[in-house]
Amino acid sequence: MSISNELVNQYPWLPSLRKFYKDTRELSYSEFISEIFSNTNNVQIAKRVLKIFEAAFNNLEEIPDKKNDNLNVHVYLLLKIMLYALNNKIITNRIANLYSKSSYNDMEHENSISNIYDICMDLGLKINSYDPPEPYGLKIVKDHREKLETNFSIHYIDYLSLASNLRDEYRKLTNNPLIDGYVFIQNKTLIRLIQEYVRNKLLIEETEDKASLKAFMKNVSQIQGFKDLYDNIKTLWENRKEEFDFTFKLDIKNKEEMLLSYPPCVIEILKKAEEGQNLVHHERLFIVWFLLALEYPVENVVNIFSTLPDFDKDKTTYQVEYAKRKNYTPYQCLTLKSLGLCMADKYKEEGELCREGYGSKDPVERKKIKHPLFYVQLKQYRSEREKEYKRNLAKRELEDSKKPNE
Ligand code: SF4
Repeated sequence: MSISNELVNQYPWLPSLRKFYKDTRELSYSEFISEIFSNTNNVQIAKRVLKIFEAAFNNLEEIPDKKNDNLNVHVYLLLKIMLYALNNKIITNRIANLYSKSSYNDMEHENSISNIYDICMDLGLKINSYDPPEPYGLKIVKDHREKLETNFSIHYIDYLSLASNLRDEYRKLTNNPLIDGYVFIQNKTLIRLIQEYVRNKLLIEETEDKASLKAFMKNVSQIQGFKDLYDNIKTLWENRKEEFDFTFKLDIKNKEEMLLSYPPCVIEILKKAEEGQNLVHHERLFIVWFLLALEYPVENVVNIFSTLPDFDKDKTTYQVEYAKRKNYTPYQCLTLKSLGLCMADKYKEEGELCREGYGSKDPVERKKIKHPLFYVQLKQYRSEREKEYKRNLAKRELEDSKKPNE
């Protein structure tokens, strides 16, 4: 099957890129970079790449003035090389999230289903398309009945491999109609799965091989255009990076103390969000309910989600406000354990209280932590007691120092 050049220009992460840009494939990284920066459009390409970084650092949900012309392929490849050069997990996640979201928006606005079908075929997915859409079920919510229909069904093996990172309940195979080995899914869900594929294409692991990276940088830094672009991105990042630390985003009084009081299950979710990793449904619910229970402002809770691949500010604000009105209680430890979200064993220091319990020196007598909010209370109580002990000790030492020598 052959797909159009225009489609590859618009979606340069498609496997057919190899076919259309065979010559590019044979170039080494530095040869490719040299070629880009000796190209008459090099300023345009560099500007577009810089714009993507700016948009990601500014938490935008779309790439401004994005054009889907033939320069798009160079932009995509240079973007990937730049991520390797920067070697920073947080930046990589942010770019991967923004870029994949932008591809999602483009696919969502495709006028015909044939382009989506071609994309799926190019990705090697076993897919059926229906025009007009095929009815496959009925959704009943209270008195409302909605006929479900779709243009696509996908082979369950492909469905499972695409959805493997998205552990949300509604994406489980058992929650989707399966007929003759094909899963019937809404067009939007299919596109969301492809978005995840795109995100993974950009998720270059941080390299441990610092020597190779150094040699690479030494080599490509001689190409002035690349060096300027790299330096610009670095400066942008240096100016903004503190804002991406969740300790700043939460912006609360005594934030350091508060962070010391978080249980491992909470730290893990905040770290994942900080790095722009996807959060599953239960992680999202738990962190919202937990932070609201500690009286975090809605805006700060919403901010935590701003790094996620599917962030939508209005929708998230509505959901967090709704949760605040409902005053939900965060999951208890037993529930978190059954959901695989207890991280007591992963965090050596913070998990000690969870693993060993409290209340007695005798391990048999010790009680187990049953709720993450209790963990916070206990940590704060202990910290207050320690402070008071230190205050009293200092007072006694002062009094002793004033006593005449015997
Ligand atoms: S024991 Fe409870 S508070 Fe501690 S990490 Fe597990 S779920 Fe969280």
